[in-house]
Amino acid sequence: EVKMSSLAQFGTNHIAKGIGRLTTHVLERGSGSYVYTTEGKKLLDFTMGIGVTNLGHCHPKVTKAAQDQVGKLVHGQVNIAFQEPQLRLIEKLLPIMPDKSLDTFFFWNSGSEAVEASVKLARQATGRQNIIVMQGSYHGRTMGTMAMTRSKTVYSAGFHPLIPGVYASPFPYTHQFHNGNAQDCSDNAIKELEIMLLTQTAPKDTAAIIIETVLGEGGYVPPPPDFLKRVREICDKHGILLILDEVQSGFGRTGKMFAVEHYGVRPDVMVMAKGIANGFPISGIVSRKELMDLQPPGSMGGTYAGNAVACAAGLAVLDAFKEEKVLDNVAARSKQLFDCLHGLQKSEKTGHLIGDVRGLGLMVALEFGGGSKGDNIGGKIGSRVQNKCVEKGMLVLTTSIYDTLRFIPNLLISEEEMSEACEIITESVEEVAR
Ligand code: PMP
Repeated sequence: EVKMSSLAQFGTNHIAKGIGRLTTHVLERGSGSYVYTTEGKKLLDFTMGIGVTNLGHCHPKVTKAAQDQVGKLVHGQVNIAFQEPQLRLIEKLLPIMPDKSLDTFFFWNSGSEAVEASVKLARQATGRQNIIVMQGSYHGRTMGTMAMTRSKTVYSAGFHPLIPGVYASPFPYTHQFHNGNAQDCSDNAIKELEIMLLTQTAPKDTAAIIIETVLGEGGYVPPPPDFLKRVREICDKHGILLILDEVQSGFGRTGKMFAVEHYGVRPDVMVMAKGIANGFPISGIVSRKELMDLQPPGSMGGTYAGNAVACAAGLAVLDAFKEEKVLDNVAARSKQLFDCLHGLQKSEKTGHLIGDVRGLGLMVALEFGGGSKGDNIGGKIGSRVQNKCVEKGMLVLTTSIYDTLRFIPNLLISEEEMSEACEIITESVEEVAR
């Protein structure tokens, strides 16, 4: 048996180097806002496994639901029969869908697979091939989604050729491109999209436009208020489907059940994963029956699709959202975090380092460098602050190419835990500013 103290080295020796890693800690358990390492370290988790364990590590109700399900039925293969937990999960999801037209589901395992399922649906339903994505988007790492991920070249470098028929139009990233002017930024992104449909992929060849409702790995950027509505209008005009990827922004992360509720837009397809089952691998797409019914039986499915234990966990997640007033806590803790970050922005000690503070709910970003103009491509202040935070016992992530930290605490984080985080963030930024 490998000694406890040698496990990290064992991992380095035997796990694919292609997996980049923030730390070499070996996690043993997690509870609420914290994870604990085999070396006895307690770490405040502001990553939640990249926005997955939204109700905290090992939420008791989710754990209990999964344990009970393990004793009843683990694997209920979807091409063979229905299974009760999946049907019950749909029953609970239907009333919280951002639009009543979203009534038919397909479950998968990972976010990437669900994104691919949405593309398959768009192609089948429209009879068209091409897909428009946003620059800065992250949709996954599979052979299909690699072509749709435009946040950083490391995800596709060396893996070309990618699937053809994917076109990228600018996401309205106000701070980077329009000096804080949301209207100019939105106008420009819409114009670029219209130009794309006139110059690169004709509407009759374009099946769907897929957008992360709030840009995730590309910088935690909420779009300007009118952007998605205007994209919806373009889609309606040309018979193009609007797919919203809510893999990272869904399930309470932005203070609403789905981020699209901030914008009052109806997606034709919505992609879900991550927070849906608080750590159990399950993802899915939802669309309207008339579109989903265009898929011939047998064209969709997969061995583990919509696993029964994950579905049972998902049921418990949705119960917890109601019983524990999760969204109320998001609003309160969001304000606390924003107060801290705005304080850093105003402070004489640290203000000169900070370019932008933005986000919705507990999907929050702190962008460094470049002043209000945001010319901070490849900047390193964020990763220096990140290293300080990790040294002080707090896990936190950066985003892709701009110099940005993203904060992804669990949605049930307490006031004290948020204060602890704010102290660590403040100290870390101050130390880097010195
Ligand atoms: N879409 C978005 C918006 C994501 O954030 C991610 C994962 N970070 C994915 C898709 C891919 O999900 P997965 O890693 O589960 O394949």
